[in-house]
Amino acid sequence: MDRNSIEVEVALKAITAASALCQKIASDLAGKESILKSDRSPVTVADYGSQAIISKCIKDVFTEDTIVAEEDSKELRKPVHSRVLEQVTYYVNELIPDSSPEKICSWIDYSSHSLSDRFWALDPIDGTKGFLRGDQYAIALALIQNGFIKLGILACPQLHVDKNQPLGEKGCLFLALKEKGSVQIDIGSGEQRSLSVSKVSNPSEAIITESVESDHADHLFHQRLAKKLNISKPSLRLDSQAKYGIVARGEATIYLRVPSPSEPGYKEKIWDHAAGSIITEEAGGRVTDISGHPLDFLSGIKMEKNQGVVVTNGILHDIVLETMKM
Ligand code: AMP
Ligand code: MG
Repeated sequence: MDRNSIEVEVALKAITAASALCQKIASDLAGKESILKSDRSPVTVADYGSQAIISKCIKDVFTEDTIVAEEDSKELRKPVHSRVLEQVTYYVNELIPDSSPEKICSWIDYSSHSLSDRFWALDPIDGTKGFLRGDQYAIALALIQNGFIKLGILACPQLHVDKNQPLGEKGCLFLALKEKGSVQIDIGSGEQRSLSVSKVSNPSEAIITESVESDHADHLFHQRLAKKLNISKPSLRLDSQAKYGIVARGEATIYLRVPSPSEPGYKEKIWDHAAGSIITEEAGGRVTDISGHPLDFLSGIKMEKNQGVVVTNGILHDIVLETMKM
């Protein structure tokens, strides 16, 4: 696969459209109506709209491919949520005219939760809680073939494009192809730059990134680890796989995701890590679980063989894993 392949073209087009839809909804308070799913996590008009658009774009071209995405239309079809479906239809129609509620639900339901030899893992909005707060979120898409990630794309519409200017222009895409490296594409200007992880080899100079939500990771454990490694710089807390992006571009050195004591047995989902992990790895970083095992994208939608996630610039990986055991 090269940067001009049809897969890259379709994936970029789909994710760019979904990103525009999410930003439009984000700027429109009325669009922020959400539904609470059975696991008490929120799903918004933007999650449904993003999944519908990306799934349709992929299936239009790759009719035989499987899509493994986070959402389905079960709740959305309930009469009690007709207002949400109306809003999803309104926003999707702006990008794909003549989209009916029925068509949109059927595009969302292209998704299957059983993996095949070749499938697309999609998180239409990763970090929905961040999206609802007006903070970071990402749209994450990866193509996985025979257990290996071939392509990963993250849209981070709220992330600053220049790592040295956190308050500057926002909106970037990260794209990685297996053995071809990672690039950042600025959404506004289209400017492209290749990415490489930080060269920091002294752990005390590292910068940690972690979730905002304390239910998603053990902040106290992270703090203790930072102390053992003599890290004094404050951690960068941000929602979504944007954390993989900032490690890939050397803005952070270590992304820690030690399971939170509120849900110690939590199994990570493949759509929360597939795109992000190839982006950091192709920029020279390393990604494992907290025991040092590679992430498992073969078992099912949950990474059953893994617990937590550790991402580093590679140089610091072993020392981070070792120090975690102390
Ligand atoms: P983040 O923004 O990095 O905190 O991650 C957001 C993702 O965390 C969501 O997409 C959820 O799938 C996932 N998530 C939900 N509950 C947990 C949990 N208990 N531990 C780790 N991740 C979780
Ligand atoms: Mg997610």
